[in-house]
Amino acid sequence: MEATQQTTDVLVIGAGMAGLIAARELQRAGYRVRVLDKGRGVGGRLASRRMDGATFDHGAQFMTTRDPRFGAVLEQARQNGAVEEWCRGFGGGMDGHLRWRGKPSMSAVAKHLALELDLHLENQVAALRRDGCQWHADTASGHTFTAGAVVLTPPVPQALAILDAGGLVLPPETRTRLAAIEYERCLAVLAALEGPSRIPPHGGFAPSDGPIAWIADNQLKGISAEPAVTIHATHAFSLKHWEGDRLESGRALLDAAATWLGAGIRTFQVHGWRYSKPMRVDPESCLLVSQSPPLVLAGDAFGGPRVEGAALSGWAAAAIIKSAS
Ligand SMILES: Cc1cc2nc3c(=O)[nH]c(=O)nc-3n(C[C@H](O)[C@H](O)[C@H](O)COP(=O)(O)OP(=O)(O)OC[C@H]3O[C@@H](n4cnc5c(N)ncnc54)[C@H](O)[C@@H]3O)c2cc1C
Repeated sequence: MEATQQTTDVLVIGAGMAGLIAARELQRAGYRVRVLDKGRGVGGRLASRRMDGATFDHGAQFMTTRDPRFGAVLEQARQNGAVEEWCRGFGGGMDGHLRWRGKPSMSAVAKHLALELDLHLENQVAALRRDGCQWHADTASGHTFTAGAVVLTPPVPQALAILDAGGLVLPPETRTRLAAIEYERCLAVLAALEGPSRIPPHGGFAPSDGPIAWIADNQLKGISAEPAVTIHATHAFSLKHWEGDRLESGRALLDAAATWLGAGIRTFQVHGWRYSKPMRVDPESCLLVSQSPPLVLAGDAFGGPRVEGAALSGWAAAAIIKSAS
């Protein structure tokens, strides 16, 4: 495939929450911003899928907010019909804290945030190279995108692989610090049911023991026309069965969930999240890896292991780019 050179002010790699917030913020500040993502859609771990007439949120289940900036983003998304209130707690544990869901499903939030951005999907960055005062991002399909600054938001091990492939040598203390960031794994089962589940209101539940970390009824949640359950395995179960037969793991998780299913299974799929949630979060809300030309690492491993944390990291990265250039 023919290689291309496409130059812009800032390249944001990753169209998850961190990348989208950084890109919007920088675009509003007058920078020419281009967003690359390897996926077919935006959102990263804000992920939804359709199967046999049923709709599933299979990554992040809900969003909470404490920071007024993120609250304002959700409020604007609500006014645009991209989010709505789900509930203020689950089962007997009503804590009064608002949980937001995407509307019609979680990926809608990311689509809303991406509306005015210059997006280049299905572009997997293989290497990031520094060349004088510019960065070159080489994609797996042979394209090159060039920019004066980069915000790199994939999960940290993937970001490190991109930097290594581009020959960037990090100071040993920075590499040690980044290498210490590990993530939980999560096997997620998406099961379309023959009838309603027995999951209690409001359709979400975190069992206190066993192989299941979370189980949700997407119909009760209000995002699926058909009975549809999402099951997230614990990190321990996911790690143990990661290399094994995915359908076998799926069946084991469905067996463990039998009490809450209460209906036959029409069909199911298993999705593996290799980088689900960071187990340890870096003390900084983003990391300036190069001052000139600027390169900032961002994402939930810096801002905090939730959607809101990723957004806060995106804002922090945008602020650093603005002050560095
Ligand atoms: C199973 C599960 C359940 C969760 N539940 C919740 C919850 O209920 N509430 C909550 O607040 N949080 C939850 N989270 C965490 C939340 O989803 C994340 O904290 C947040 O979405 C991370 O956003 P991010 O932008 O940092 O990363 P990501 O969303 O991972 O975005 C990174 C992006 O980079 C792209 N990318 C990666 N490599 C490349 C490459 N080489 N080239 C181009 N693009 C690349 C990816 O495609 C992705 O779009 C959950 C996560 C999982 C997996």
